Amino acid sequence: MNDQNTLPSPELPLDIDSIKGFLAADEGATLYHYALEASKLGPCLEIGSYCGKSTVYLGSACQQNQSTLFALDHHRGSEEHQLGEEYHDPDLYDSGIALMDSFRTFRTTMREANLDNTVVPVVSSSATASRHWATPLGMVFIDGGHSEEAAQTDYRSWSTFIRPGGILAIHDIFPNPEDGGQAPYNIWKLAKASGLFDELPTVNTLGLFRRR
Ligand code: MG
Repeated sequence: MNDQNTLPSPELPLDIDSIKGFLAADEGATLYHYALEASKLGPCLEIGSYCGKSTVYLGSACQQNQSTLFALDHHRGSEEHQLGEEYHDPDLYDSGIALMDSFRTFRTTMREANLDNTVVPVVSSSATASRHWATPLGMVFIDGGHSEEAAQTDYRSWSTFIRPGGILAIHDIFPNPEDGGQAPYNIWKLAKASGLFDELPTVNTLGLFRRR
């Protein structure tokens, strides 16, 4: 999507810039736009909620349709959030148990955004949460761990639940390795080659598909 048809910013229930996170405004507006239609097909699911920034965009759209957003995150941080790593945030570190904990902040965000009636937090690893999952989904947004194994697990565990006409979104698509890690781009390529999806225009680093 180019500059001429960038989507308008949705009206959100709080100041989105006050929420910690790594989602750009044009990517957030795009998530909102697609969730607004996809949540009519079924509940939506995001993988990797962190402090709830993308959850506010997706959840606010789901709320418009009285749908549900499942917000999946173990809340122990990705590789890059751990103590000593590039994106470590001391505010999200529980020194008592020497582990990251973004769930407390996430819950605060959901309460402030009035999304407790729409967002169902699933505090778990992706593999564990998917083990007995059976509910078809209107939209899946993958923004979990960026290791090759984590990204592949997210794609294989959840993309099969997307209903025909539903949306698959993948964050942090960097076709040029110099710009960023390749794991999200690798699952984007898997989705493209699968024959299961029609490719939609990428917005910033947000890759998008519609399930055939
Ligand atoms: Mg991301």
